[in-house]
Amino acid sequence: MMTTGYCGSCECLFMSSLVKWQMKNMKAKTLTVFDFDDTLVKTTCRIKVITKTGREKWLDPATFNQYNPRKGEQFCFQEFAEVKEPVMLSHMDKFKRDIVTNKKVYILTSRDKRRPIRKFLADIGIDVSKVAVITLGSSNPEDKADWLQHKAQKYNFDSVYFADDSPKNIEAVKNRFEKTSKRVILDLVT
Ligand SMILES: [Mg+2]
Repeated sequence: MMTTGYCGSCECLFMSSLVKWQMKNMKAKTLTVFDFDDTLVKTTCRIKVITKTGREKWLDPATFNQYNPRKGEQFCFQEFAEVKEPVMLSHMDKFKRDIVTNKKVYILTSRDKRRPIRKFLADIGIDVSKVAVITLGSSNPEDKADWLQHKAQKYNFDSVYFADDSPKNIEAVKNRFEKTSKRVILDLVT
């Protein structure tokens, strides 16, 4: 019994393949990117601040996001070498769904070590072959915007989805894409 909607002649088979190919290519390509800390998981990792006079203080990532550095301060991210006492946040559900529906999903983090994140993902049963972890080793929002812009242009994505808990990062990405034709969905995680 014929169920495919074409008669089976050479021409119809060709047309059917052509329509399928066109439909596949009409599907918009979306670059799907999540921050890690305080977006997908909350951990007990903190940032050490060393003041000009050598005094040390510690900030959690949420406080650090709003922090205006004073002159001469240095920052140490040594605790971010591991994923300490992770608690999954609600965006983890979307992340997992997107892994199923997308070819590839990206984690874009200011951390500088990829391996602890990949190990954590594998430990919670995520197919890490579909996740690319990009470690910038920088908390400068412009570095996130640079990476997203470069990736979206080089691989010709039609749209970008970006989730991050840092208003500074969201703002930098918004400004960067303002004058482009790409559709950008910015998801400020609160
Ligand atoms: Mg974050």
